[in-house]
Amino acid sequence: MKVKILGAYGGRFGDLGTTCIQISEDTLIDAGNIMRSLGERCIQVNNIFLTHAHLDHIVDIPFMIDYTFRFREQPLNIYGHRETIEAVKDYIMNWNIWPEFSSIRLINSGDYAVNYYELLPETSFHTNGFDIYVFLSNHTVPTLSYVVKQNGVGFLFTGDTYRNPAVWEILNRDREIKVLITEVSFPSYMHNLAEVSKHHTPKTLREELKYLERDDLEIYIMHLKPNSLEELREEIRATLPTVKILDDGDEIII
Ligand SMILES: [Zn+2]
Ligand SMILES: [Zn+2]
Repeated sequence: MKVKILGAYGGRFGDLGTTCIQISEDTLIDAGNIMRSLGERCIQVNNIFLTHAHLDHIVDIPFMIDYTFRFREQPLNIYGHRETIEAVKDYIMNWNIWPEFSSIRLINSGDYAVNYYELLPETSFHTNGFDIYVFLSNHTVPTLSYVVKQNGVGFLFTGDTYRNPAVWEILNRDREIKVLITEVSFPSYMHNLAEVSKHHTPKTLREELKYLERDDLEIYIMHLKPNSLEELREEIRATLPTVKILDDGDEIII
């Protein structure tokens, strides 16, 4: 399977895009950088799996549905934790900030433009050729981590996270997971900020990696905060030499 990183950063600055991962032509995890990365091809996206409702992960949903509305023949399906779905519905697509597209019918089919689906933590399901398992991350709001597999191999994407024993327990048990995509947001000297906002620093991720009992896993890091980019890259290269830092547009073949 091929995973394309459409947005790799924890904030917007210049050309940098926020969290957005494409797992097939019509399916994404998070919606931080759809419009600039996909352009016209955003019309093909029918499924978005959300980790959580923070702005850097949902920001392009309103613009994407607005642009694709007149071309769509099927609804945009948005999946996430109950509180994620409620936040998008209640605070963004609520007629105040943006139209409530879940109550507007498409011109071409009569279906509603957006359908929402709640995902329960610790459940598995099969959709569009993918086997997906979701479990709770450790972040400031309810956040889902995703295990995505196709033909018996796949990746684990933590989304935004601080220390989480479940990640290492799953990775040690399930050798079909070949790739871990996780996050480091702040340099280690900002550990107080990282702890209250529940993000990793290079130091906390390195401490967590001690729980990993295998050496065949490829590890990728994203969600670096743009205001600390150079010092973060330097610290990660020095203290986590085996992990790879993701950039917008990178592809991972599993
Ligand atoms: Zn984030
Ligand atoms: Zn977040």
